[in-house]
Amino acid sequence: MIPMVNLKAQYAEIKDEIEQGLAETIEKCAFILGPNVQAFEQEAAQYLGLKHAIGVASGTDALHLALIAEGIEADDEVITTAFTFIATAEAIKYVGAKPVFVDIDPKTFNISPAAIEQAITPLTKAVMPVHLFGQPAEMAAIARICSRHNLKLIEDCCQSFGASINGKQTGAIGDAAGFSFFPSKNLGAFGDGGLVVTNSDESAAKIKKLRNHGSDVRYYHDVIGYNSRLDEMQAVVLRVKLKRIDQYNQARRRAAHLYSQLLADLPLTTPFEDGLGEHVYHQYTILSDRRDELLKALQAKQIGCAVYYPVPLHRQNVFKQECAGLRLPATEAVAANCLSLPVCPFLEDHLIREIAGVIREVLTV
Ligand SMILES: *Cc1c(COP(=O)(O)O)cnc(C)c1O
Repeated sequence: MIPMVNLKAQYAEIKDEIEQGLAETIEKCAFILGPNVQAFEQEAAQYLGLKHAIGVASGTDALHLALIAEGIEADDEVITTAFTFIATAEAIKYVGAKPVFVDIDPKTFNISPAAIEQAITPLTKAVMPVHLFGQPAEMAAIARICSRHNLKLIEDCCQSFGASINGKQTGAIGDAAGFSFFPSKNLGAFGDGGLVVTNSDESAAKIKKLRNHGSDVRYYHDVIGYNSRLDEMQAVVLRVKLKRIDQYNQARRRAAHLYSQLLADLPLTTPFEDGLGEHVYHQYTILSDRRDELLKALQAKQIGCAVYYPVPLHRQNVFKQECAGLRLPATEAVAANCLSLPVCPFLEDHLIREIAGVIREVLTV
C-alpha cells in the first residue's frame, strides 16, 4: 500500500523533539495562546518575510478573518476560482459577500488574470487567488489588476506554504493571506490550525482581536469576535516542522520532477512550471482523458490517488442555483481529467517508479 502522504515516516523522524515539546506544555498547563503560539507566529512571520502572522483555528478561519479585517462586507463581490476546495468560497460567503467564479489557466490550474479583469464590476471589492497544489498564481499580473482597480488582494495559501514567485513568498504579496495546517497540508499540524499574515498593523490588530472573542484585554470586548485561536499543542508541532519546511518542500519537488521525467513520453499532461518561482507540490496532479481508468488501476494496486477536485464550485449543489448558466470551460475540462498521485517528502524513488509503471501499463496497451 502506498499512501497519498506518509505522515508516519515524517513523525518517526521528529518524534523525540515533538514529544518533548508536548510534554513540557502539558507539564506547564499553558494551553491557550501560550509561548509556543507566540514563538511560532514570530518564526512564521520571519520565514515568510512579513510583519505579522496570527495563529488561528483553521485555514478556513484564516481566510474568513482576513476578509473581515480587509473590510469585505455584505453584497461585495470577491473574484475567485471555482477550481479549489470549498473553503475558499465559504469564507467569502461568511462575510455576506458574493464569490464571483472565473476561469483558470488550464496549464497552471490557477485563476486567469485576464478572466479576473473581465469580471470586475462596480461591486467588486477583492480578488482571492488560490495557489493551487502549491503552484503560485500569476501574482504580478493579479497585483497590477488589483492596484489599478483599487481592489483588496487576499491570497489563499492553504496549499502553498514556502512556495515563492518572483523572489517573494506566497502570502507576502497581497494585503493579507490565509494558511492552513490541516494534517495533510505541506506544513501540517496534528489537528486543525491556520495562520493569517499581513504587513498591515491595522489588519493584524483586528485579526488578533477577532480570533479571541473581540478582546485585547481579558473580559473587555470591543467587537463581536470568534473563538479561533491556534492551539498551543499544535504550535509545538508546527515549530518542529517549520524548521524543516525547506527540506520537505525540496523533497516534494524532487519527487515531482522524477515523476515528470518518468511520465514524459506518455499521452498525459504533467504539471507545468513557469520558472518564475518555486512550486512546492502540495499535490502532483496530471491530466489524462483516461483518468478514470488510471484511477481504477492505481486503486487496484493499493496506490493512494485522488481527484482534486471532481466538481468545481460553480457546479456544487450549494452554488449551482446562483451560478446557473455560468460556463467555465477550462475549469470543467481540468476537473474531468485531473488525477493527483502520491507525493510527500518521504516517498521513495522506487515507489515513484512503481506508480509510473502502473500508469505506463494502462496507457500503452
Ligand atoms: C485546506 C484548504 C482550505 C481550508 O483549510 P482548513 O484548515 O481545512 O480550514 C482552504 N483553501 C484551500 C485551497 C485548501 O486547500
